[in-house]
Amino acid sequence: MTNFHILTLFPEMVLRGLGESIIGRAGAAGHISIEALNIRDYTLDKHKKVDDYPYGGGAGMLMQAQPVYDAYLEAERRILERKEKEGRPDKKRNRVIYVTPQGTTFHQQMAKDFAEEEDLIFLCGHYEGIDERVLEAIVTDQVSIGDYVLTGGELPAMVMVDAIARMVPGVLTNQASGETESFYDNLLEYPQYTRPEIWQDRAVPPVLLSGDHAKVDAWRLQMAKQRTRERRPDLYALYEQAHPAEEKKKKLRNR
Ligand code: SAM
Repeated sequence: MTNFHILTLFPEMVLRGLGESIIGRAGAAGHISIEALNIRDYTLDKHKKVDDYPYGGGAGMLMQAQPVYDAYLEAERRILERKEKEGRPDKKRNRVIYVTPQGTTFHQQMAKDFAEEEDLIFLCGHYEGIDERVLEAIVTDQVSIGDYVLTGGELPAMVMVDAIARMVPGVLTNQASGETESFYDNLLEYPQYTRPEIWQDRAVPPVLLSGDHAKVDAWRLQMAKQRTRERRPDLYALYEQAHPAEEKKKKLRNR
């Protein structure tokens, strides 16, 4: 079970987006929990302001340290309270992920690693970002979803929560599907087909109708390798590194 705590200025956006389909059902079934804390609820400013001009000038506004820090403290307090109720209080430092274009790019292995955590706190920035001092004080991981800039951290947090939640045991009804999907063993997934057998004169590859599981598996592996080689040579190089014996055999065959 992983509990996600999302610090954001737009809690409804996050909760609505993650309340549907497989992730929504996983929450209802108790495999994961998702709560969103509205950073604005924690500002001490009487006008509920959470941002201000950057020192030194420059475009846009910055989120201030105080409301972010107090929202974070509340998330930590709730985690501790839950653990105390369950009779197992601990003072473990929870991972706090600041979603930012300046972070390490998110990938599948990261999703798997994060899925091992019992609690994960996500911090979503907005405007031009967040005062650096509070990031230094609370953040353990800075993670990006790619080399482009979005208006806020809500979509990146939703992307990461979705990918991590899929790796939590029980969330995918067919756990094995995670083991044939793209990025497992550094390969992209093979092409897939469903009924009808012929659609607009295009037939399903006959091997998939053969009933011979060994042949189907061999064909799928071959297609996955071909696809990865063509579309993602960077990934394919990692696959080759991890399977040196296979590559040696291929070279011997080609002599
Ligand atoms: N001024 C910041 C910079 O140049 O690095 C960008 C701020 S961006 C407009 C506002 C917020 O959106 C960020 O604080 C971050 O939380 C989020 N964000 C934008 N693009 C992102 C990305 N590619 N990955 C993760 N978070 C992103």
